[in-house]
Amino acid sequence: MRDRIARFMIGRNGQDQLNIFLLVAALVLMVLGAIFRTSIGSFFSGVALALLLLTWFRMLSRNLLRRRAENERFLRWQYKVTGKLRSLKTRWDQRRDYRFFTCPACRTTLRVPRGRGKIRIVCRKCGSSFTRKS
Ligand SMILES: [Zn+2]
Repeated sequence: MRDRIARFMIGRNGQDQLNIFLLVAALVLMVLGAIFRTSIGSFFSGVALALLLLTWFRMLSRNLLRRRAENERFLRWQYKVTGKLRSLKTRWDQRRDYRFFTCPACRTTLRVPRGRGKIRIVCRKCGSSFTRKS
């Protein structure tokens, strides 16, 4: 039986990170659908079902090039989101000691110590400067 499944899966996409994410999303929506027993609940259940069908389709798909490109795009997006969340957490953890500014020229986030009064901040990345209260 396991052999037959293994043979069946040859040349197919199988599981990837995007599918796992879609499965978790479907699970969350199913739980929400069970909690809200109104039209919004059935909407959640409907989307969950669509996501489940999508994961099945992606798992059994033979178009590996396409599926890998999708997964690649998902991983890049995930990397960006987790990086943003991590930097927000760092800012929150350091909020007592530092102030954060965005460079008006290159949009880089700059960190300066709090309580130094009005200071001239020089961007380490592009060298432009601006004055702010720390
Ligand atoms: Zn800059």
